[in-house]
Amino acid sequence: MTVASHKKAKALKAGSRRPAKELCSECGLCDTYYIHYVKEACAFLNQQVAELEQQAHGQSRDLDNEDDLYFGVHQEMMAARKKQPIEGAQWTGIVSSLACTMLEKGLVEGVVCVQNTKEDRFQPMPIIARTPEEVLAAKVNKPTLSPNLNVLEQIEQSGMKRLLVIGVGCQIQALRAVEKELGLEKLYVLGTPCVDNVTREGLQKFLETTSKSPDTVVHYEFMQDFRVHFKHEDGSVEKVPFFGLKTNKLKDVFAPSCMSCFDYVNSLADLVVGYMGAPFGWQWIVVRNDTGKEMLELIKDQIDTQPVASQGNRKAAVQQSIPAYDNAVTLPMWAAKMMGVVIEKVGPKGLEYARFSIDSHFTRNYLYVKRNYPEKLEAHVPPYAKKIVEQYKLPE
Ligand code: FAD
Ligand code: SF4
Repeated sequence: MTVASHKKAKALKAGSRRPAKELCSECGLCDTYYIHYVKEACAFLNQQVAELEQQAHGQSRDLDNEDDLYFGVHQEMMAARKKQPIEGAQWTGIVSSLACTMLEKGLVEGVVCVQNTKEDRFQPMPIIARTPEEVLAAKVNKPTLSPNLNVLEQIEQSGMKRLLVIGVGCQIQALRAVEKELGLEKLYVLGTPCVDNVTREGLQKFLETTSKSPDTVVHYEFMQDFRVHFKHEDGSVEKVPFFGLKTNKLKDVFAPSCMSCFDYVNSLADLVVGYMGAPFGWQWIVVRNDTGKEMLELIKDQIDTQPVASQGNRKAAVQQSIPAYDNAVTLPMWAAKMMGVVIEKVGPKGLEYARFSIDSHFTRNYLYVKRNYPEKLEAHVPPYAKKIVEQYKLPE
């Protein structure tokens, strides 16, 4: 029997410089022998969304169809929420519920998801969960870059043939690129949108400069009362006004990978579960292909659904925010978050809010790449993102 050539490759040591250098999102691929494929697979070295859409969905998005342009290839979209929300999940826990159901029904033998380490609740720890309990222990967003793909070698070693992977866009692009090398009979991909993530160090800086008790924070959210709500271990809630944040200390907190990402909506997953695009308190579901439809069917009896809606006009708000975003290198985190919260409160709703968020982030990221990596601009920005950005007047 011949050994697949990637097995001769060697994972990079922890902490060593990655091929994508400062743009690396720590997706985990380079922690495995699949680093062999990094030049082709890395989302920051080889943007290939259209080709991978074709591979995963049998078609790439139609740039002349506005919903495709913004939200990627899809069969349907809807708003949904769990009839019985999972306590402690990020929203209502649709992601965790689906993963548990797939294990219980025997559709998959394992689920790639991310728990946190025992010592540090914000330190991501990817695992292959084999029981619903292990999946539930991975609920809630880890607000840090997470090497979800660092478990890929274990898949081949375990002999698993049916697998669900939960992940964000950059992880899923690399996964799709090496999918055929994994020796699986069936891969299911459950994605979440993702934007403005930070390194563990960046998060620490934010907590230390903003909260009175950074070590006991279990969760935080930029809220509609214009304050950050920090929830602490003892259940108390600390509220810090946006305008009281130490902005000068919070420059450059978003990871460079996230400042140059154009896959907010996780284009290559079979099924995507987020919140933008849905009314407050509801989640937003995008079914991209037949596999995604099969997955959603499994939990139809656990969720209430309603059609997606759209209201308002985002364009003036996006255009007005571009000068602030253009200063992205110095734009403090709170300003970007605040912008989103203000708009959420007074501005466009439903799908129009999702388009607002996509437009704002794509114009900001386009300018960031143009200013910092001009040689990458042409190939790195996908055609759909160029078309979205072209709707706005950008500074030179
Ligand atoms: P849960 O049942 O709580 O499950 C969450 C799942 O996410 C877990 O299975 C876990 O394995 C996985 N996960 C957690 N952290 C990470 C991570 N860092 N990397 C990869 N996988 C992870 N949705 C939007 O609509 N708009 C946004 O702007 C947006 N921004 C996001 C930013 C980040 C950094 C992340 C991680 C997610 C973001 N989402 C966004 C998705 C959204 O917040 C929820 O994750 C999604 O709606 C699922 O909620 P849930 O209650 O069903 O998830
Ligand atoms: Fe490797 Fe992933 Fe970093 Fe790219 S983003 S260099 S594939 S770890």
